[in-house]
Amino acid sequence: MKTIDLRSDTVTRPGREMREAMARAEVGDDVYGEDPTVNGLQETAAQLVGKEAALFVPSGTAGNQIALLAHTERGNEVILDEEAHIYYYEAGSPAMLAGVQLRPAAGLLTAQGPEVLRRALRPANIHFPVTRLICLENTFNRGGGTVMPPGVMARFYAMAQERNLAVHLDGARIFNAAVATGCDVREFTRHCDSVMFCLSKGLGAPVGSLLAGSREFIEKARRYRKALGGGMRQAGILAAAGLVALQNISRLAEDHLNARRLAAGLAELPGVEIDLDKVQTNMVQVKFTGRCTAGDFVRQMAGRDVKCNASGADTVRLVTHLDISSDDVELCIAAAKNVLVKGCCG
Ligand SMILES: *Cc1c(COP(=O)(O)O)cnc(C)c1O
Repeated sequence: MKTIDLRSDTVTRPGREMREAMARAEVGDDVYGEDPTVNGLQETAAQLVGKEAALFVPSGTAGNQIALLAHTERGNEVILDEEAHIYYYEAGSPAMLAGVQLRPAAGLLTAQGPEVLRRALRPANIHFPVTRLICLENTFNRGGGTVMPPGVMARFYAMAQERNLAVHLDGARIFNAAVATGCDVREFTRHCDSVMFCLSKGLGAPVGSLLAGSREFIEKARRYRKALGGGMRQAGILAAAGLVALQNISRLAEDHLNARRLAAGLAELPGVEIDLDKVQTNMVQVKFTGRCTAGDFVRQMAGRDVKCNASGADTVRLVTHLDISSDDVELCIAAAKNVLVKGCCG
């Protein structure tokens, strides 16, 4: 039986068209700037998000960490949400690499975020670190894949510019935000100085992310990428997959529809709570309120060939993607019903 893997949208495998494009890719040495496919991907990406230049990087984490290095000096303060990926899931690398002090602010990635930022900003004083950068995240992964509307991003950006601070957007899933709202992605990315987005999530590439910003910023970033060991040679093989992945942007709407179906089906079951207002893109956060714990659920579902991850002590996250069909969604709901109604947790 086929396993239904809802742990993340990173689990997709390249299909035939993508593999053929990889096999056909024209390549050169990208450290010399001579890989035509990488150059093409970088130009396409820069245009897509409305920035002067872009850099192909091995992962989203690499893109975010290179951005921190390029925006800051050691000892600077970076303000972000306490649930932000950069703070929560990047192995402590802001301390390890850029040597910055992260200031986690609760509620930064909500509609009230600009107010949270206003309270977090401090005047110049010898006791305080120098604040340099604000990191936003859209869609907000630990928030349940929620979208920050362009209007809210605009308020952050205006406040940052007033104070001469830079804004970096962790836009691992920024195209999910664009598709969910029907806005052009540039409506979001015009309100930041730099943006990272992933090709290897819902867009379905096996590897790779892009970091975009001003030409000057990207030149700095290129040097940090090299320093971190991310200068890849005939990387056009990977960039070719990325160019195919960019054709999958509008298809993200299917993932969103599947996530809503999944959420609606699961919300009917006993012992769980789902905030349907937060199901805005390709994620469903399920809270366990009955006898079945998040850990029990993950184990029981695995026994029924459905994989999912606990995202907290009493929450499970399910993510729809390229390799999840509407039939898979129905099978997942049936398995969950089996666990919660009839299984050991019922
Ligand atoms: C996945 C993700 C990243 C990091 O991407 P990797 O390629 O896994 O390093 C960064 N930010 C967010 C919000 C993500 O979901």
